[in-house]
Amino acid sequence: MNGMSRFLAAIVGLCALALLPSQAIALDACLDDPNRAHELRVLDEAQVTDMMDSLDVIAVPERMHRMLANLVAASPRLRGGPAIHLLAFHDTELNAYAADHGLVILTSALWSEKENLSDDELAAVIAHELAHIEKRDSLKEACANLLRLKQPELRIEEARDRMGLEMLNPYSHLAREARRELHEQEHGADLRGIELLRSVGRNPQAMVSVLAKLHGSGTPGLNLLMGSTHPDLRERLERAQAAAQAVAPPAHVPGAGRRR
Ligand SMILES: [Zn+2]
Repeated sequence: MNGMSRFLAAIVGLCALALLPSQAIALDACLDDPNRAHELRVLDEAQVTDMMDSLDVIAVPERMHRMLANLVAASPRLRGGPAIHLLAFHDTELNAYAADHGLVILTSALWSEKENLSDDELAAVIAHELAHIEKRDSLKEACANLLRLKQPELRIEEARDRMGLEMLNPYSHLAREARRELHEQEHGADLRGIELLRSVGRNPQAMVSVLAKLHGSGTPGLNLLMGSTHPDLRERLERAQAAAQAVAPPAHVPGAGRRR
């Protein structure tokens, strides 16, 4: 690098550094704006209504309500409210979702005889979703997209549509950035979920085994072109495994520390 290009690189670097704080301030302003949280809630509720039209709502087993209450009590941020509810749909696919305003959506395959998940694994699914709610990951993603598109006044729904188009473009740097952030959110929710499992005396290793079960039957063919909103499974399992092993699990947990 010659003298002039070094000088230009330094200027570009300084400009980027100057932009970072203003980006962070704009992100915080969006996250703190109650209108934005409300806007997201309305969108989430519309999505839930659509799901109710196409899938049957079924009762969640009582023990899962107890698991939820137990995990919520372990989170200083969540136990202060608002209340978090479970909603379940009959579905043969293993899946779970979270809405920031306090809803964890589960599919009935999770407690089906066929899948045979342990209680620790079911708690791991709930813990992962609670971690997303705790961090308000959906709102963070929505606000980050508004800034990425450089249109902080746009409606979240419109920004989502525009980012959806970006995601179809394999050369879009906006899509690459958004995907990277979503992957980090998933890793973060896995790790926080492991902490929550540990704090209620459950086996943290259950996070690793249930992630393998949930994502082991995915359709990677589709993701080759479009890029997945979930991180590479192997990397995800390795990071979850490292976190699960980082501290020795409580001795009274049956099967603790066992590799699956
Ligand atoms: Zn997740």
